[in-house]
Amino acid sequence: MRDLEKFRDPGIARALIKEIRNLAARATKRLGRRAVFMEVCGTHTVAISRAGLRGLLGDYLDLRSGPGCPVCVTDYGDVDRMVKFARLSENVTVGTFGDMVRVPGSDSSLERERAMGADVRIFYSPADAVRYAADNPGREVIFLGVGFETTAPAVALAIKDAKARQIKNFSVFITHKLVPPAMEVLLSDPGLKVDGFILPGHVSAIIGRKAYSFLEGYELPSVITGFEPNDILDAIRLILKMMLEGESRVVNGYSRVVREDGNRIAQQQMADVFAVCDASWRGFGVIPRSGMTMNAGFKDLDATERFSLPPVAPRVPAGCACGDILKGKLIPRDCRLFAKACDPRRPVGPCMVSSEGACAAYYQFERHLKGVTAVE
Ligand code: SF4
Repeated sequence: MRDLEKFRDPGIARALIKEIRNLAARATKRLGRRAVFMEVCGTHTVAISRAGLRGLLGDYLDLRSGPGCPVCVTDYGDVDRMVKFARLSENVTVGTFGDMVRVPGSDSSLERERAMGADVRIFYSPADAVRYAADNPGREVIFLGVGFETTAPAVALAIKDAKARQIKNFSVFITHKLVPPAMEVLLSDPGLKVDGFILPGHVSAIIGRKAYSFLEGYELPSVITGFEPNDILDAIRLILKMMLEGESRVVNGYSRVVREDGNRIAQQQMADVFAVCDASWRGFGVIPRSGMTMNAGFKDLDATERFSLPPVAPRVPAGCACGDILKGKLIPRDCRLFAKACDPRRPVGPCMVSSEGACAAYYQFERHLKGVTAVE
């Protein structure tokens, strides 16, 4: 059997689900409640919803989404700054990855600014934005660096390229974030009970298994895994087994992609261009050493240095529960606006916009499932 078929094979999936249900029933007996596992990564949230795993396992396990959707955790103030960049002048182009365009800020979004005449463009890679700047020297191109350790190396490479080619009309607004510090904040929150983590595949390919060794101090079994249904099921099975056997290791279940030390070349690209700094996350506030800023040698390509913007006092949309959903305290159906005042056509918060957002995934694949209660 070829690998891809194995990861999607229905016979293997059935056997895994049966084993998970047996193990989870034992865990429930021991805990007096269903075990709560958090999928940290937004791509896992979507994969779990699309494959119907929450429905198949919901009576046995509580699967919670975490802070792993990069667009969703981008803070209100940063979205407002992006809108202000788009309004700077008719000679400005704001370049971004697709999902960011529709995220509502306090009084507008990039999509709305584009409809009113601003030049907001979707680039499929930061290198395309550098190319666009080189081809259009009369325009100021501001690229929005959004995402975790996964996208940051490509943005770093583009910044180095623009610097080396002396492309003076290119700059980047950096909102990149680091996943492990946000997990540490979650673990220190007494209002959240998580029994195990399903760890991201893409981020882990860059940072490596070792980057999660801090989890072992919390006695939480955790598994790095891929995105096919059987990858995720096998990770859940392993976490349950570790729980029941009193083990709390961080297991690399995605060894076809993830190495112990991660991708050293990508890490070096980031270190060349970025320094670690405090960063503001939607729902979390400021998390120490969880973001990136440009190193001194690249400050001339930092959009916040090049353009002075007035301070922004963001307005949080009333009733939106994105912050608590990103912390795993609520699920999308707990938000009173879900599928009523907020849906993918009229999103109130980013979790309904992003292709990796929990609300969008629940809306598309799970809105007819019966309710699952919040973490006690
Ligand atoms: Fe925010 Fe909409 Fe999700 Fe509610 S349903 S948390 S308003 S994005």
